[in-house]
Amino acid sequence: MSYNLKTLGQFSIDQVLDMHAEWEMGAADKKATFCIENLAYEVNRSSQRYGVFSASILCFACGLVGEYFLLQQSPNDSPKKAHFNLYGKLFDEEILFTKDHIMPKSKGGSDNILNYRTMCLRCNMAKADNELLVTPLDILSARQVKEQLKLAGIARTNTSYNKMSNQLDWLVDQVNKIRDIK
Ligand SMILES: [Zn+2]
Repeated sequence: MSYNLKTLGQFSIDQVLDMHAEWEMGAADKKATFCIENLAYEVNRSSQRYGVFSASILCFACGLVGEYFLLQQSPNDSPKKAHFNLYGKLFDEEILFTKDHIMPKSKGGSDNILNYRTMCLRCNMAKADNELLVTPLDILSARQVKEQLKLAGIARTNTSYNKMSNQLDWLVDQVNKIRDIK
């Protein structure tokens, strides 16, 4: 997938989520400044997507893990502003992460943070306004991801790890339902 975004630099999950947490705890102003090659870029720490990714860096649908953030600009952004986008890798392909509306906007879902969950763009596009389509292969890869997370000790906090586990359990339920139908 190509995203038509200009990349300024790469940052770790912790760097970006800590930046957001500082604002959430009232320890920092909304505006953060990042310098790349002597140019300063203003980033909005309060952006909702960082809150969504703080809860989980795992795609709710396929289990793909967000691995790093890129500081990027959209074609319409002012030259002095930038934002962080979360990315994961599927084989060698770089996949953008999005915040997905749990209740779709077209069905009256709100833009409140409680109505968002983490989803990779691939799944978000496949889902569109429909119910999630989950295949047994998705479950298998999600389980493998869960094991890898456990082995690597990647879970940021027990809370976010538990949320990831719940998501994976939900996926298993979906597969069982599909099996029942067949
Ligand atoms: Zn996905």
